[in-house]
Amino acid sequence: MKYSRKKTREVNIGGVKIGGDNPIAIQSMCNTDTRNVEETVKQIKELENAGCEIIRVAVPDMQAAEAIKDIKRQIDIPLVADIHFDYRLALKAIDGGIDKIRINPGNIGSEDRVKQVADMAKKNGIPIRVGVNSGSLEKHLVEKYGGVTPEGLVESALGHVRLLEKYDFYDTVISIKASNVPFSVEVYELLSETVDYPLHVGITEAGTVWGGTVKSAVGIGAILSRGIGDTIRVSLTGNPVEEIYAAKEILKDMNLRKFGVEFVSCPTCGRTSIDLISIANEVESKVKNIDKNIKVAVMGCAVNGPGEAREADIGIAGGHGEGLIFRKGEIIRKVPENMLVDELMKEIEKL
Ligand code: SF4
Repeated sequence: MKYSRKKTREVNIGGVKIGGDNPIAIQSMCNTDTRNVEETVKQIKELENAGCEIIRVAVPDMQAAEAIKDIKRQIDIPLVADIHFDYRLALKAIDGGIDKIRINPGNIGSEDRVKQVADMAKKNGIPIRVGVNSGSLEKHLVEKYGGVTPEGLVESALGHVRLLEKYDFYDTVISIKASNVPFSVEVYELLSETVDYPLHVGITEAGTVWGGTVKSAVGIGAILSRGIGDTIRVSLTGNPVEEIYAAKEILKDMNLRKFGVEFVSCPTCGRTSIDLISIANEVESKVKNIDKNIKVAVMGCAVNGPGEAREADIGIAGGHGEGLIFRKGEIIRKVPENMLVDELMKEIEKL
């Protein structure tokens, strides 16, 4: 099943288009020091290899803004500058060839400064993401709504968006991040009803790799299932490469995009008599970067396994000290346990 996606305006981020009918793009953010060009480029390459389509870096000072030019020269995916407080950093980043700017116009300063950023971004065809966070909602909106509410956050975002519109700037992407899942769903529903700008979706401060992945999957999944979202970022306290794997899984599981192998494995039960957990982990990591749209199953027993995973293109089912390789529910041969993974990988190569 495909979700009926809300049609949003198309925005081009350095060649990667989001909104409209474009696929939901995967983003991440470097956790290197942007001023360290070598380390940052190295991490971007790793993220790109894992499937990252848009990458953001923090630009906290002029030296970081100056590094943009050198980073841009050495990478192949669009680069986004994350800027707070100082509009001059945005101007410098645009000068250095940045593909998108993320600002919170509310903390960039006077309207004239916002105008300068909007004018220069427009001249260079660079979109701006208005990124509002639940933790930094303006005081007057907290007071107006009696706390941090979805209505207050949407009003905050709209205020910034309208300010850009005032200066004839419409290449806008919006995000409103909160760390509470039901709250975030409400926020994005309201935002999506109110604007047709493309939306960047994520759950902020989601947590470490395990807990944060679950939380992001639930939150981003719930928002996507309402047809909302044009680009996603999973935020994890860990190696950002994990964010990409998690994002790909979310989009794959929602039937929104296809990324190589779909992996399934059974939960094991009293019928399992091989070390299925190790085998499943090994196969999952080996198929992670295989670029084939196939389904691979790792099942614990020959009695139910091939049948339970009938829709799999290829799979293995455990026995006693041996296992079966099956294709589309049909057993093709028997293999000793210690050779199961290698033999399965050979079969996958043939597909
Ligand atoms: S495939 Fe076999 S081992 Fe796995 S859960 Fe089903 S019955 Fe149990």
